[in-house]
Amino acid sequence: MNRRKFMKKSIQSSAVIGAGIAGSNLLSSCGHTQSLEKKVSADIPLPIQVVLDDVGWWSGKDGSEYQEPYRTGINRNHVPADYQAIVELGKALGIRPQAATVLGEWDKQNILRNVPHSTWMGDNWDNSQWVGPWLEETADIINNNKENFEITVHGLGHEWWTDGKFTRAEWADDDGVMRPKEILVQHLDAYAEIMHQNNLGELPISFVPNAFRHSFGVTKGNDISLAQLLADRGFTYINTPFSSMFNSAAAQYGLFGVDSGIMTIDRGADLLDWNVIGGKPDGAINGPTCGMHWPNLLHENPEKNPEVVARWVKLLAPYNQKQETMLSKNSVEFQQQLAHNKLTKVKVADNLINLNFSDTKNVGTIAPNEELTIKVSCECELVFTSDNIKIISASSQKINDSILHKLNLKMTGNKGAQITFESKS
Ligand SMILES: [Zn+2]
Repeated sequence: MNRRKFMKKSIQSSAVIGAGIAGSNLLSSCGHTQSLEKKVSADIPLPIQVVLDDVGWWSGKDGSEYQEPYRTGINRNHVPADYQAIVELGKALGIRPQAATVLGEWDKQNILRNVPHSTWMGDNWDNSQWVGPWLEETADIINNNKENFEITVHGLGHEWWTDGKFTRAEWADDDGVMRPKEILVQHLDAYAEIMHQNNLGELPISFVPNAFRHSFGVTKGNDISLAQLLADRGFTYINTPFSSMFNSAAAQYGLFGVDSGIMTIDRGADLLDWNVIGGKPDGAINGPTCGMHWPNLLHENPEKNPEVVARWVKLLAPYNQKQETMLSKNSVEFQQQLAHNKLTKVKVADNLINLNFSDTKNVGTIAPNEELTIKVSCECELVFTSDNIKIISASSQKINDSILHKLNLKMTGNKGAQITFESKS
C-alpha cells in the first residue's frame, strides 16, 4: 500500500462524522442543542513528529569513499549553532524535534577502542581532535532546552567496520539482518556511557536505524528481534521508512506496527534528499513523520541557519491549523496520539462526542495510551463537559468561518467515553 492510501485509510478509520460546516452560516446561527449536532464534526488528528537524522557529527565530511562514515556531507565542521537550529525549530512550533544522533565523535575517553565494529580505526580509535569546549557548549544547549530537543539513538559510527572496511549499517546489514546481539548490547552500553561522559542524561528510549537497515520481527540467525533488544533497554519506539523495512507487511496497523511492544512507525518519504544543504522544503507531509537529515535544516554559513529554520516553520505550522492533523509536542504524545488516530473511533450523535477505545486498548505497545487529542469544529464556540474522561485542557481558534476546538483528554477507563457539548452563549 502506498503512502497516500495509508493516509486516506487512517483518516477514514478515525471517522470524521457529522455534517461538517455549512459555509454561509456564521457564528450566531448555532441555535439550539438539537440542531447543533449537524454543525459539529470531531476528529482524532494524525500527529506529526519531526525527526532529523545524522545529528552529532563534528566533521561534516561524507567519508564513505574512504571507509569513513556517511556523515552529513556539509562542507564545514559542525558547530553548536547547528544544534541551536533544532531548538529554534522546536520553539517556533511548540514541538520537541527528535535528533537521531550519532555519538562517536562525542567520545572523550576513546572508549570505542573497545567496542567491536564501531569505527574505522578499530582499537586505534582516537577522537582527540573532536574533544573541545564545543562539547560542553552544545550539551548546555541540549540540557537547557529539553522541551525542544530530544536525543534519539542513531548509532556510534553509523556503519559496521570489519578490519577497517565498512558495510551498511551499524544495527543491521543490507538484508535487514540484525547484527549479533552480543555486539549490539556493547554498542548500546557505549552509547549510554558517551551520554554520561557529556552529561547528556540516560540512554534515550527512541531509535532510528541508520541507513534505514531494519527488519520488523526476528531475523535469520537471531533468537530475538532488534525491537526486543531495545525493549529490554527501556525503548518504546522506532521510526523508519516502511518502504525499506524488511517484513513490513507484518506491521499490523498500516502506519505503524508493534514489534515486541515497540511501536514501529512508518517515516514515509522525506521531502528532501539526505545531502541537501540549506533546504527549501516544498510539498505535503503525507504521514505521521516529517523526516529530514540535519543539513536540510542548516546553512553552509551557520549564522544563516535561522533562514533555513524559518522555511521549515512556514511549511509545518499549517498542520496545527487543520482539523485532521496536529504537530505533536513530543514523541510521547506522538505515540499515544497515533494509536488513537488509528484505532479509537469517534462519532458525533445528539449533543455528544462518543469515543470508543475497544480496539485501542489492545494495541500492545509498551508505552501507555492514556492521553489523546481531539479536534472539534463548529460555526460557534462550544463548551465541553464529561463524567467519564478528563478534559485536561481545551482551546479554540477561528479558522475561516468556523471555530476549531482542541481538547486534550485523559482516559479514566478503557472502554469508551462521552463528551457533552453545547453552544457557549
Ligand atoms: Zn543516518
